[in-house]
Formats: sequence, C-alpha cells, structure tokens
Amino acid sequence: MSAHIGVTGLAVMGANLARNFARNGYTVALHNRSAAKTDALLENHGDEGDFVRTESLAELVDALEKPRRVLIMVKAGAPVDSVIEQLVPLLDEGDIVIDAGNSHYEDTRRREAALAEKGLHFVGIGVSGGEEGALLGPSIMPGGSRASYDSLGPMLEKISAKYDGEPCCRWVGTDGAGHFVKMVHNGIEYADMQVIGEASDLLRSAAGLEPAEQAEVFTEWNKGELSSFLIEITAEVLAHTDARTGKPFVDVVVDSAGQKGTGRWTVVSALELGSPVSGIAESVFARGLSSQRDQRALAQDILAGHEDQVQVPEGFVEDVRQALFASKLVSYAQGIDMLTAAAAEYGWDLKLDEIASLWRAGCIIRAELLDDIMKAYADEDKPANLLFAPAFATAIADAVPAWRRVVAVAVQLGIPVPVFSSSLAYYDGLRRKRLPAALTQGLRDLFGAHTYRRVDAEGTFHTLWGGDKSEVSAVDTH
Ligand code: NDP
Repeated sequence: MSAHIGVTGLAVMGANLARNFARNGYTVALHNRSAAKTDALLENHGDEGDFVRTESLAELVDALEKPRRVLIMVKAGAPVDSVIEQLVPLLDEGDIVIDAGNSHYEDTRRREAALAEKGLHFVGIGVSGGEEGALLGPSIMPGGSRASYDSLGPMLEKISAKYDGEPCCRWVGTDGAGHFVKMVHNGIEYADMQVIGEASDLLRSAAGLEPAEQAEVFTEWNKGELSSFLIEITAEVLAHTDARTGKPFVDVVVDSAGQKGTGRWTVVSALELGSPVSGIAESVFARGLSSQRDQRALAQDILAGHEDQVQVPEGFVEDVRQALFASKLVSYAQGIDMLTAAAAEYGWDLKLDEIASLWRAGCIIRAELLDDIMKAYADEDKPANLLFAPAFATAIADAVPAWRRVVAVAVQLGIPVPVFSSSLAYYDGLRRKRLPAALTQGLRDLFGAHTYRRVDAEGTFHTLWGGDKSEVSAVDTH
C-alpha cells in the first residue's frame, strides 16, 4: 500500500503531526535520521492508524504515492538544507517537499526557488499550537505554489484545528508567505504575553493583588472581550502554588524570559520593511532586559527611582483591563500592518481576513477578537489600519481614558509598562495632525543636505544653511 504522506524528523512535533495524519485516516510513511524515534512512535502509538516504517530517505520516497508528499520536521536551519539535499535526487518532477518547522521565511524563499528550478514544489508551512496542537489540530499557514496546495491542502485542512467547523488552514501565498505569516503570529504572541505581564505587575505592585487573587481577575477577564487562550492559561499559572515552598509559582521562577528567535526575526523584518511594530519590538526588548540579570542586580543600588506616592484611582483593575485590551489591539494592528507591507514587498496576495480566520483556533494567540478582526477585513471596504475599522475605532476610543490613567500611574510609581506606553504613543502618533518629523527633516537638511518637501508646493527643496539661508530646488534625497 502506498502511503499518502511521508514524515521525516520524528521528534515531538514530527511524531505528533504524523500521528495526527494517521488518526485522520491517512497512511503515513515514517522516517527519522536515527531509527530509535521511529520505533518508539510505532511501539507507543502504532495502533492509532496506518504507518509504514522506513529506515532511509530512499525507502521513505519509495513508500509514497505520486505525486509524493514528504514533510520535513527536523531542527530548523542547516538540518533542513541537509535533508532537502538528500531528498532531491530521489524525487520526480511534481513531487512536493514540505517544511513544517520554524524556518525563516527568507530560507523558505531561497529553497522554494531552488526546488522550483528542478520541477519540484517546496511548501513552507507555519504550524502553531505547540506539541498538543500538532497532535490534536494546529493552526496551519501554508505557503508555496498554489498548484501544490490542490494536492496537499485537503490533507492539511483535515488535520488542522477547526473554528465553528471551518479548518484553520488556508493557502496564504507563494514561496515564504506561510512562514512569514507564522513569524508575525509569533511576534504578536510576544506582545500578547508582554501586555499580560505588564497588567499582572500593575495589579500586584499598584493594586496589591497577590497572584492567586489575580488569577480570579484573569478568569473574569477571560469571559469578556479579552477571551483568549493566553488569558486562560495566565489564570492557571497565577493560581499555581509551588509544591516545594508553598509560595506562588511565579515567585519561585527566575524572572528572565527566554526566546527562540521568532520575535527577533519579526522585528528585524519589520525594520527592513519600515513597519512600526513598536509593541512587538518592546516585547522583544523587555525579554532582553529581563535577561540582563547582572546589570539589574547592580542597578538596585545605583539607580534612584524617586517614585511618586500616588493614590491608585478607584476602578483601577478595570482600567488595567481596558489598557490591556487597547494595547493588545495595537499589537494586532501593527502585526497586520506589517503583513500589508510584506505583501507589497514580496508580491504576496495576503488575504487579511483569511489569515485572521486561521488564528481563531489551534494557535497560541487564538482569541475571540480574531473573529472580529476577520470580519473587519472581510468587508468590501477594507480598513487601511485595523484600528480604523468602525468597531475597533469605537472600542479603542472607549478604552483611551483608562489607558492614559494606567500609563500615568505606572510612570509615577516607576512600574515599567513598555508595551502599554509605546502602544499609546503609537495611537497618539497616528492621530496627531503634525508630528515633529518636520523638525527632523530640517535638521537632516542642515547637517546633510538631505532635502525636504513643502506642505504648500510640489517638488523637493534645500535651504542654503551655510549661506544666505535662501531656498533652492533640489534633487530628492530624503
Ligand atoms: P527538534 O527541533 O528538537 O529537532 C529534532 C529532530 O531533528 C530529530 O528528529 C533529529 O533527528 C532531527 N535532526 C536534527 N539534525 C538533523 C540532521 N542534520 N539531519 C536529519 N535530521 C536531523 O524537534 P522538534 O520536534 O522540537 O521541532 C521540529 C521543528 O518544529 C523545529 O523547526 C521547531 O522549531 C519547530 N517547532 C514548532 C513548534 C510549534 O509550536 N510550531 C513547537 C516546537 C517546535 P535525530 O533523532 O536523529 O537526532
């Protein structure tokens, strides 16, 4: 019997995806560089569906129906190139090579172009949902050629998470589009987690709520417009007590946040695209600052705070909820703005409503909000910025007074809220009729003759700063 799909790389993610395919009725050929993982999967879960054991990539390829579908789930980076290099000579024109790992989208673009020259399809797919999602239904963001999706898509849709019965899997665009969308998803995830952290810090340091009390607050918040997986598990983590000490779990964990790099990739890419993802960037920087433990320890004795003794306003917990919601909206708006910029740069026809729909279930940022975001972009009249969609413009405007109060209190008490405050600055920056960028242009023209444009005349100009300060027409260099 020919297998429908082959999976090579059977560590936790590959094994769970393979099981997910098998549980959905597909025959799955299995391969791992060292046979031990293949055997462990068959021994522990071999009865979950139809598997074909193989010991080499050649055997794996031979076990597959045509066009062949080979899914690679090995360590991201050089191992992916190494597996592709070994696979290519074994494949025939029209076969599909799938990379479902966390690869950088530029690597995916490079690999797609190289395999296309050989008549092979290369599909980079973003998969979110962690180990459990891989097994029970992840959110899947496939890139690659549209033609390859005709053969592969139905299988991916079958194993994906479902939202109201709709698969959280849709072709998002050519070459690296799938991995790009997954990367931005992860950037938003960083911001989502940081705003939750800032809210928790404020609830404790300003409102005096202990972690167990906060858990109740987050459980309550999860019933409203903030309803999401991350808010739900925040309540769970905050409610957890350390068995060794009897202290709140969050008090015995080192306050230094790790990162695997997708947040950083998002920010680097946003900088290149000129997309102002300040909330996501501040989230990555916040993790970086948390990791500078030596400097933080020294700062305790060196840096003075001069915090004000302010009275926390009445209704502060609700204010924090609104500030969290508004900041979260800004992060989504910024992530989506970046998708728009990338679509123009890379020639992807990204459908923002469909992308939002993929994130409604299965992935880490799944949230009620995403259904509304999907609807905002499904409209004929698409907003130029998520915050301009009438429902969101109203929602964020309603939150602004609370948001300003919370940021003001945080500043006075010396509680760092980099995403709450930078998101508010982004919001105000967008709204502001005139920005001090005009002065920046003047300075650039003075020290570097970078030229400027005028509000009242076409063309590009330069002022003779070193001479009589008269204005001349200039070649545009700004
Ligand atoms: P790992 O990233 O730990 O990679 C281990 C697997 O890669 C093993 O099967 C290993 O084989 C194989 N491998 C490593 N180097 C090579 C090589 N040079 N040639 C062939 N095979 C090699 O596995 P995970 O399951 O944790 O992750 C797989 C991918 O999924 C990664 O890209 C990761 O970033 C991504 N991921 C995604 C998550 C998500 O939520 N979407 C969560 C976790 C991971 P061997 O057993 O022989 O050593």
